[in-house]
Amino acid sequence: TKKGISKPDWLKIKLPNTNEYSWMNKTIRDHELHTICTSGKCPNAAECWGAGTATFMILGDICTRACKFCNVKTGRPEAVDYKEPLRIARSIKIMKLRHVVITSVDRDDLPDGGAGIWVETIKMVKKINPETTMEVLIGDFQGMTNLVQMVIDAQPEVISHNVETVRRLTPQIRSRAKYDVSLDVLKYIADAGCIAKSGLMLGLGETQEEVLETMKDLRNVGVRVLTIGQYLQPSPKHLPVQEYIKPAQFRFYKEEGLKMGFKYVESGPLVRSSYHAERHINALKD
Ligand code: SF4
Ligand code: SF4
Repeated sequence: TKKGISKPDWLKIKLPNTNEYSWMNKTIRDHELHTICTSGKCPNAAECWGAGTATFMILGDICTRACKFCNVKTGRPEAVDYKEPLRIARSIKIMKLRHVVITSVDRDDLPDGGAGIWVETIKMVKKINPETTMEVLIGDFQGMTNLVQMVIDAQPEVISHNVETVRRLTPQIRSRAKYDVSLDVLKYIADAGCIAKSGLMLGLGETQEEVLETMKDLRNVGVRVLTIGQYLQPSPKHLPVQEYIKPAQFRFYKEEGLKMGFKYVESGPLVRSSYHAERHINALKD
């Protein structure tokens, strides 16, 4: 990083070189799909793809927003691809995924924010893969709850929306997103009876007190599943890492989260929003 903090040992990761990984990579490319695993340079790709899980990214691979932590391309997106829902659903079948996480770029350019394609995707995945459970990681739809309602009506098993960081740092880190709008979206999802999930990145300069306050805010609006991970700088153009949070501190947040009443907290340096996603849903079924 710019500040010259070197990466601690607990962030060193395995290189993806398994057969399963290559096969997944090929299937995703053959179907002209995108995953946040590669677009986001996720450090867990070897583990997740090796275990047969991946997070698809729909609505193309160009985002209308430009968050300072995010490696997804930004700019003017291409036209909506109405065949994408079918390709996603078919790939999930070929990959035999029991649980899948789907996310999207933000499409502030579309009048419905992409909600229509979201609905088509969820329906198509269910139709072709009736046994597969699904988590959808959505944007804020600029707070338009009628669009959030369209996603809810398509009945995915889990709906997540990430606050990403604490209130104070939100304007510096997220693009065109507001902390309170995110809380409102999550409240809307939880009030509709859905499993609401959210996630935070640490190491951007937030204090412990601020993290605990954010966790309380999330719990207060009804969020049941929480993920907390270390921010890693995807390229020198992105925000520098301010601090590498120690594994013990992540364990502390997990304990505090469970005390606050979250049903499931995944907290650790390499945790990403979609990491071990199948476990969350299994834990909630028990
Ligand atoms: Fe992909 Fe999520 Fe696994 Fe990262 S944690 S490799 S984004 S499924
Ligand atoms: Fe990345 Fe922000 Fe776009 Fe999401 S909204 S894909 S975090 S730039």
